[in-house]
Amino acid sequence: MNIQQGILAGIINASEDIIIVQDLDGCIISWNRAASLAFGYSEDDVLGKSASLIVPEHLRGEENELLERVKQGEKIGQFETFRATKAGKLIHVAIGFSPVTNQLGEIVGLSAIGRDIQRIAEEKQGMLAAIIDSSDDAIVSKNLFGIITSWNRSAERLFEYSAHEIIGRHVHTLIPEKLWEEEAMIISRIKRGEKVEHFKTLRVAKSGKLLQLSVTVSPIKNRAGEIIGASKIARDVSQHRLAEEKQGILAAIVSSSDDAIVSKTLEGIITSWNFGAERLFGYHESEIIGKSIYTIIPRNRHHEEQGIINKIKKGEKVDHFETVRVAKDGRELSLSITVSPVKNRSGEIIGASKIARDISEQVKVREDRELYTKRLEKLNHYKDEFIGMASHELKTPLTSINANLQLLQRKLQESAFKGFVTKTLRHVNKLTALVSELLDVTRIQEGKLQLNKTYFDLAELVEECVESIQPTTTHTIQYESKITGAVLADRQRIEQVIVNLLTNAIKYSPHGKQVIVSTEMDEHEMCVSIQDFGIGIPADQTAQIFSRFYRVEGLAPTYSGLGIGLYISSEIVQRHNGKIWVESEIGKGSTFKLKMPLK
Ligand code: ADP
Repeated sequence: MNIQQGILAGIINASEDIIIVQDLDGCIISWNRAASLAFGYSEDDVLGKSASLIVPEHLRGEENELLERVKQGEKIGQFETFRATKAGKLIHVAIGFSPVTNQLGEIVGLSAIGRDIQRIAEEKQGMLAAIIDSSDDAIVSKNLFGIITSWNRSAERLFEYSAHEIIGRHVHTLIPEKLWEEEAMIISRIKRGEKVEHFKTLRVAKSGKLLQLSVTVSPIKNRAGEIIGASKIARDVSQHRLAEEKQGILAAIVSSSDDAIVSKTLEGIITSWNFGAERLFGYHESEIIGKSIYTIIPRNRHHEEQGIINKIKKGEKVDHFETVRVAKDGRELSLSITVSPVKNRSGEIIGASKIARDISEQVKVREDRELYTKRLEKLNHYKDEFIGMASHELKTPLTSINANLQLLQRKLQESAFKGFVTKTLRHVNKLTALVSELLDVTRIQEGKLQLNKTYFDLAELVEECVESIQPTTTHTIQYESKITGAVLADRQRIEQVIVNLLTNAIKYSPHGKQVIVSTEMDEHEMCVSIQDFGIGIPADQTAQIFSRFYRVEGLAPTYSGLGIGLYISSEIVQRHNGKIWVESEIGKGSTFKLKMPLK
């Protein structure tokens, strides 16, 4: 065997076709592997034997006729016949016969190349079955009477019936009764050989669940071309439908929104424009889509847009940004806009959506409020000025009244009228104190409160204050000091603070019998505390009582006062870098504490 022959033999053996060669006497001289597989004889079994070995007896006559024709040089293609296997089984084959010639062109034998038709058909069917079974679509077939004849795995999943349960039953099992007529119409189209494509309908699953399906129905024909049934491919589109509905709802929201909703590309070209936008800006969708967003941005705000787009490109949102836009008629609109990136399915940012709300009203309200506040501040300033002026004007006559009363008091040594004068003088002193407090408020307001600092012993000052107040009250002021501590402060102002705290303690504890005063000290500061057992202060107001004119609600008319004592006190203490605060319980009493840094 030369090389070429070797290659040829290899190919013949590897072929899926049955290849048999016989000589002119009908003896087999070549037999390939496919022949062995098909007939069950090995090469050794058949070489040299008569080729009629595999020809069924009743067909031998026909066979001989054919062979005669080939011996004459004729080629016979794809002749369908039967052959017998070693086991005696008949197989359906298609054979092509050709003459085999030698180098001189003389016919020396015959070759038969055959194919097992049935096996191929079975393989094809197997492949089809596998495709059908693995399809994601439900594939079902039925005959012309509507009886289900096949049912794939996806159909089992979709309709919840196993093939075993449903094959042999009528398709009406799957169709809501009101749609039976539709089914009859489909069947009649199928009978006419037509295909029904992507037809949207409803079916019922075993559990009663309604399925929204897209169905394609095709006729099934037998070999003779007669229509014998229909195959149905059904796809569940419920999700699809849901998505479509969602989109519909979204579109409806956008178009019915009172807010202007506009979208644009990253280049600033307007791509959508809802009715809210039309109402707000005055442009109809048809005149603005495709135009630049700058159409509605005032010239002096063009720079804003670039900033917004830069943020959008980074995937950021711009929230409630207050700006101005222009309407078609040139009106400037105060708007609050929120801009969000628009992404495509693969997540790339392809534009921006803008929701704009007209806030002209709010802006106006805000501006009015600002104006109002300014006016209020001005009025407040006038009031302060008035208080300052009034107390100043009051001070001069008061001083003169005071001096004259003192003179009178001295002159009326033993007179019966002396008592009246003394009483009057007491009231005038109260009035003088009040006026000087008012003047202090004005000084604080104007930043003109002067401090005259000296070193003195704070504990000693407290003691002096207690001693001066004690004779004016029926309360017992309890104070025992064992400490001494020098502070650098305005003695008179600190005295004013302590006197104010002591008089308050007495004033606001009408049923209390005592006030406890104590002093404590560490290396940095000295603390004075003044405790009463009076009405107490509501917890939510303990901070406010130190502000100007503030009085705990509901005090008047039982307790007189202007609400400025603690304000002045706290200003004085703060100017000394000290601290003043209160701890209190309603109905139990209050403890005011004052902390002053030691020198
Ligand atoms: P006035 O006593 O003139 O109202 P203050 O500035 O001294 O003004 O005090 C402010 C407010 O603080 C008072 O109106 C009162 O409501 C409350 N207050 C001050 N001291 C006491 C206290 N010892 N007990 C209860 N409430 C107090």
